[in-house]
This record gives sequence, structure tokens and C-alpha cells, in this order.
Amino acid sequence: MQPAFDFTQWPPLISNKDRNALQYRATSYALAHGLLYLPIGVQPPKLTSAIHAPISLFPTPFPRDQFEQAQRLQSIYNILYSRIAMDIEFLDQTMGTEVGVGQVDEFTGQLWSGWRDLRERGLAQPLHLGLFRSDYLLHQRDSELSLKQVEFNTISSSFGALAQKTAEMHRSLEISTKFYTNSAHLTASNLPPNHSTSGLVEGLAAAHAAYNVDGSRILFVVQTGERNIFDQLWLEYELLEKYSIHVVRRTFDELAHQVKLSEKDFALIIESPDERPVEISTVYYRSGYTPDDFPTQTQYQTRFKLERSKAIKCPSIPLQLAGGKKVQQVLTEPGVLERFLCDEKKYGSQGVFSAQALADLRTSWMEMWPLDLDGDAGVGQARGRALELVLKPQREGGGNNVYKEAIPEFLVSLPPRERPAWIAMELISPPLGLKNYLVRAGSEECVETEVVSELGIFGWSLFGEGKVINEKEAGWLVRTKGKDSNEGGVATGFSVLDSLVLVD
Ligand code: ADP
Ligand code: MG
Repeated sequence: MQPAFDFTQWPPLISNKDRNALQYRATSYALAHGLLYLPIGVQPPKLTSAIHAPISLFPTPFPRDQFEQAQRLQSIYNILYSRIAMDIEFLDQTMGTEVGVGQVDEFTGQLWSGWRDLRERGLAQPLHLGLFRSDYLLHQRDSELSLKQVEFNTISSSFGALAQKTAEMHRSLEISTKFYTNSAHLTASNLPPNHSTSGLVEGLAAAHAAYNVDGSRILFVVQTGERNIFDQLWLEYELLEKYSIHVVRRTFDELAHQVKLSEKDFALIIESPDERPVEISTVYYRSGYTPDDFPTQTQYQTRFKLERSKAIKCPSIPLQLAGGKKVQQVLTEPGVLERFLCDEKKYGSQGVFSAQALADLRTSWMEMWPLDLDGDAGVGQARGRALELVLKPQREGGGNNVYKEAIPEFLVSLPPRERPAWIAMELISPPLGLKNYLVRAGSEECVETEVVSELGIFGWSLFGEGKVINEKEAGWLVRTKGKDSNEGGVATGFSVLDSLVLVD
């Protein structure tokens, strides 16, 4: 048996001179290949300049078997979350305003209430599209490493395109320089290919094809001042070049004046001042995942109007609700996974999963419980085990969680009625002593630091009326952050884009 990989020996030794050369090649590759961000600050209305995205100089070692396991799990997750989104009763129970999280979490409540009203009025489109990303960290216990899920994203799963470019950049560095080392690991065959751009675009194109109206376009609903715009533009270029599908980009505020629903069949039409009206086949949200995207009721009204339409939504409101942290926690309760994966009467004999598949999913989870568990028990347990926990509310996009020593004080300040909005989750313990060189635009010196790397596996699913029509695994992402930063969002400035070198 080979000795286990020693993470403390990463990255391989490199001289200052070679590291500077590597950094030059990395940043020039990034700038030349559109691995880009908009600079910090207010953008001029016409884009005038860009900077390279934050990147790591070396790819990050990851056990091959755990990577392959994460890829295998994706198809089950695609189906699982599709079925959750189609289970109205479950979502009402878990996320609704009568008995679920929507009672105490204003944002969840708004989305759920809007959806319930639309259900009563009738929804014009039975199909939903999910572009997903399941996020993992390696968990080390004694000398054993396993794969543990951080969260499952059902809305605005970003960095597919830039992740592919980062993997291509590391591959180019291997070809051009062999990273200036003799590391036996840094060979082309250990750098897995990543086709996340075409993978995600295949999902969007599948929804567009299912909608099947000549001349229709895909709508990207975006945030004002988005710095991660190139990640989105690469998807647009691929849609246009490979599938001849045009994209329309709009913010919620622009859409407030431009959206019309046809009287005949609720087709979604965008009427812009200078362009002819266009019909929308698919609404792809790169916005709408945080309450900040809904400063007034107008944005909610726009969201509900889009939801009402005949266009396929990526995601629909129920699919967005399915991605809540609360759902992730409820899935760990006895019998819940069986409800979605073992019900032969509902899903047919071809639609049920083996005991092994369920065990594999469960093995990838950390312990979770709701803070409102059994009166004060949930909070008591969280206080007692604070140093090994993270608390999470029903939010996406980073910066919302409460970690370790901050937990006891936070629990004192949390009004008991808000407890149902929060879950407690055991902390994953990534391997220690792993380092990398992190490179940020505008700084000539890279930073050598101990890091933690989060793997995301992309997937897509087109589903509706009780059935998954098609689903696929769709590439991967690695984000690497300094070990001492709890949060991991690239967009929020805490982490860099990275890729993998598989080790055995
Ligand atoms: P968000 O929806 O804001 O991205 P996440 O659940 O992904 O929320 O948490 C944000 C970050 O916090 C993750 O990227 C990860 O770095 C860290 N984190 C979350 N859960 C855990 C956990 N159980 N153990 C260790 N780190 C975690
Ligand atoms: Mg996350």
C-alpha cells in the first residue's frame, strides 16, 4: 500500500525566482484567457477595464477516490433535489409560513407566500431547471480522510466558467513549466479535466429546447454592479456559439418595467425601449438569492410575475426553497431520504435507489439539528458544543454564519422565536498544514499561507410533473481560502479560485 499523501508537504519546494516566473505566467494566462473580474468600486456604464480573478499558483491535492465519489453522488443529488422541489407538501411543512421556517424568516416567508398564491392562480409552466452545486470539504479524523458536504446550492451556483479556466491555467503551467518542480504528483494525468462551462450550458440549452419556440431567448436576471460578470458572459458565449441561443441580461429593476405576460398563454415577453419584443424560454437567476436583491416589494412582484409565466425558471421558487439550509438539516432526520429516494409507488421501480446509495449520501453529511429542537435542547446542545459547530440561518452568498466561540454570545442575543430559522452543524475538519500561494490582482507579491479548499460539483436537472426528464453531472470548482478565514466566498473577497491535482 502506498503511504497516505502528506498534505503538510504541499506545495512542493520552489525557489523565489521560479515562483515569480510562475506567478507571471499564471496572471498573464488569466488575463489573456478571460479569467477575470471587474475591479472593486463603482463601474462605469460601459465596461472599460478588468482585473484577473484571485487564483492559487498551485492546484490543490485531493484524494482521487473522494473526488470520484463526489462526482458519483451528483446524479443522486440532482434527482433528490428535483423531487424535493416537486413535493409541495414537504416544502409547505418545512419552509412555509404556517408551520415552517417562513414563519420566522421573512425572506423565506415572502418567497413561499408568493409561490402559494401563484399555485392557487395556476402556474403556466410545469418544467423546472436546476443548475446545482454541491459543496464539500475533506474531513480528517485520525489519519482517515472523507468527503463531507458543506451545502447544496440550487440558485445562482456560480464560478462554473471561471473554475474551468482556472483548471486550464494550471494545466498550461504544468505543460509550460512543470511548475518548476520534480513533484511526482504534478503531472498532466493527475490534473482532471473540467468541462463546467459546457456542462452548465447543456442544462440551459436543454430547457430552451424543451420550451421549443423559435426565436425565443434565455433571460439572465443579474445584480447591478456584479463583479463576477465574466463567469456569466462565458456561459452566454457558449450558448450563442454552440447552440445559437441569444441571451438577454436584465436586473430586477429593469425588468419591473419591461416584463409582459401574454394574455393567451402567459408567455414571458421582454419589451425594451430600443429593441423589438422578445419571448423568453428560460429565466436563469444570477440574482434573487439574498434579501438584498429585494429592497422593496417591487422586486418581489417582478419575481412573482416571472414565476407566473410560461418560461422555464432556473430555479423556480420551490427549487430555490429546496436549497434552504433547513432542508439540508431535515434530510438528515430518520426516514426523510427514504421519502424521496425509496418510494417505489411514487417513483416507479426504476426511480428508487439502493441502500448503498442512501448510505453514501449519509456518509457525506455532518451532524445537524435545528436550534428549536425539543424546547431548549437544541440551543443547549449548541452552547455545550459551540467550539465544534457552525450555526447557519436561511441565507446564501456568504457572511451569514456564526462560528465556534462567537456562538454562546450569539445564542444569548437570539430571541427564542427566531430559533426555527437556524440550524447547528458540526464543523468539518480539513487536513492541516496544507499551504498554497494565493495571488490577487493589484498586488505584486503572492501570499503564502495555510489553506482550506472547498470542492464544488456542478450538476443540472430538467424536471416536472413528478419526473426528472434529464440530469447530468456538470464539472467542478475549487475555492481555496486562508485557513483562518471561516467563510469561503470568492466574490466576498475571502478566497481564490483553484483546481485539483488528484493523489492516491
Ligand atoms: P453560504 O450559503 O453562505 O455559502 P455555506 O454553508 O456554504 O453558506 O457556508 C459558508 C462557508 O462557511 C463555507 O464555504 C465554508 O468555508 C464554511 N463552512 C460552512 N459549513 C461548514 C462546516 N460544517 N464546517 C466547516 N466549515 C464550514
Ligand atoms: Mg457556500
